[in-house]
Amino acid sequence: MSATTQIDHQFDRQHIWHPYTSMTQALPVYGVVSAEGCELILDDGRRLIDGTSSWWACVHGYGHPYILEAMQKQLSTLSHVMFGGITHPSAIAVSKKLLAMTSDNLTKVFLADSGSIAVEVAMKMALQYWQGRGAPSKQRILTVKHGYHGDTFAAMSVCDPEGGMHTMFGEAVTQQLFAPAPKTPFGETLIADDLEAMEALLNAHHQTIAAVIIEPIMQGAGAMHFYSADYLKGLRALCDRYKVLLILDEIATGFGRTGKLFAYQHAGIEADILCLGKALTGGYISLAATLCSDEVALGISDSPSGVFMHGPTFMGNPLACAAASASLDLINQHQWPEQVAAIEQQMKQELATASAIEGVKAVRCLGAVGVIEMTRSVNTAALQQAFVDRGVWVRPFSSYIYIMPPYTISAQQLSRLTQAMLEVAAIAGAEAKASRGDEASFISHG
Ligand SMILES: *Cc1c(COP(=O)(O)O)cnc(C)c1O
Repeated sequence: MSATTQIDHQFDRQHIWHPYTSMTQALPVYGVVSAEGCELILDDGRRLIDGTSSWWACVHGYGHPYILEAMQKQLSTLSHVMFGGITHPSAIAVSKKLLAMTSDNLTKVFLADSGSIAVEVAMKMALQYWQGRGAPSKQRILTVKHGYHGDTFAAMSVCDPEGGMHTMFGEAVTQQLFAPAPKTPFGETLIADDLEAMEALLNAHHQTIAAVIIEPIMQGAGAMHFYSADYLKGLRALCDRYKVLLILDEIATGFGRTGKLFAYQHAGIEADILCLGKALTGGYISLAATLCSDEVALGISDSPSGVFMHGPTFMGNPLACAAASASLDLINQHQWPEQVAAIEQQMKQELATASAIEGVKAVRCLGAVGVIEMTRSVNTAALQQAFVDRGVWVRPFSSYIYIMPPYTISAQQLSRLTQAMLEVAAIAGAEAKASRGDEASFISHG
């Protein structure tokens, strides 16, 4: 498409939902006609450096020839076929690669359509597992505050109970158990009482708890916070002691984002059930996966139904599997560790001065994630415009001005992003000082 492609913005405004928006008070949307490398090209011809990897997924950049070729080949051979009673080479290829990359205890793969569904699948697996192990009363899920696990009903039930969507849907959302969010920062040894409340909940309720679910190391959309590997180690030990499964939601952190291939490797632990998504296809098409151990699979087989009760229409979509399989080949070339380390180093240097800006609460970087946390919620639409004016695509939410760029970003492009973050944080800080009005905000990655 040419840079002059016409986009019918009026139709969009009147008829198309965007994530977390109103149909009567539409927020601005920008027309994107193409993307290449680490740049988005707008309908007015402007080029924006991408600081979000399209919601943390597009880790190799846009238009990567290797992924495109794999998808084009798949498209012309077999774009889709049902997965019930049928298998195909790309599902097998991607599953083999996932099992080879993840911890040895994980042996089974469920291919799901999106991250939220991968979380639903994980929770169903945990409940069915305990049915098969003669403990059908283990039906509740324990998690921590400030989590984010997706937007479907079961996923919502384990998102942060105050910042999430619980209050909007009331009793329609299952009541789960919540421990305080981990408070020991990444890289530090565990604060003595950090797991105390978690242990107390497990001690009191383990007979009704099927699993603990948590985002390892990085609490993403609910907190943009990095916590201590010691916390995860301690949590794994508690789950073993109280006979509760551990579900790790690596949908945001998987495939190198925090500097390790998977964030659980910072702690040297294994999950019983692992959720993957977002960067799984390199951000080219929706696909997620829920992996589990032999023990979990055996338990499910021993449950009254004898089968795992989930099977979406587009399960194992060949085009998505081909994209993922190609993206995993790129990950397996191991250029990402150096790229992510360089991004972390540069962000730490270039964002260091942000802590002196009025209205900035904290600055933190881990892997290819850089966060400026403001003391108050920001005006997403206004700051979005300020970023676009500076030629970059950064989308703040709640009180977070953050970037998660593609791993392939150049040092010059990254400097443009960090410079814009400093400038926009200063604008946000000044605005917060001038106005006392609180922005309505809820937790989402919107
Ligand atoms: C984005 C995200 C999800 C939900 O994935 P979708 O593909 O948006 O449904 C779940 N868990 C975590 C940690 C995420 O970051």
